[in-house]
Amino acid sequence: MKIEHLGIAVKDLSASIPLFEQLLNTPCYKTEEVASEGVKTAFFHTGDSKIELLEASQDTSPIAKFIVKKGEGIHHIAFAVEHIEAEMKRLAALGFELLNETPKNGADNKLVCFLHPKGTNGVLVELCQEKP
Ligand code: ZN
Repeated sequence: MKIEHLGIAVKDLSASIPLFEQLLNTPCYKTEEVASEGVKTAFFHTGDSKIELLEASQDTSPIAKFIVKKGEGIHHIAFAVEHIEAEMKRLAALGFELLNETPKNGADNKLVCFLHPKGTNGVLVELCQEKP
């Protein structure tokens, strides 16, 4: 599984987008709100992978809770998978706790599933499959 992207929680996209454009020397190629998750996202290409910045769009968003608890910073690692349902089944059979039972719609035209960080050494893992 290649790293599809790293998710970084930020307080303010309008401040963080220019910062990451300078840091990575590449323009943000996409911003997208995922209303169902209460987040606004911004994407940057970094070689074969991407950086996803996440800003909470509601106080109840998991990103808002994350920032209150831990501050800004790396939020999750996303791995690209070809068949998300097969991968979810494989990991569930091994005892990993899936945070959603069926794939859900994520940003950037992806089907996604998150694994509970309790079972992954504290790392929130996202599986993502390009939508057919
Ligand atoms: Zn992500």
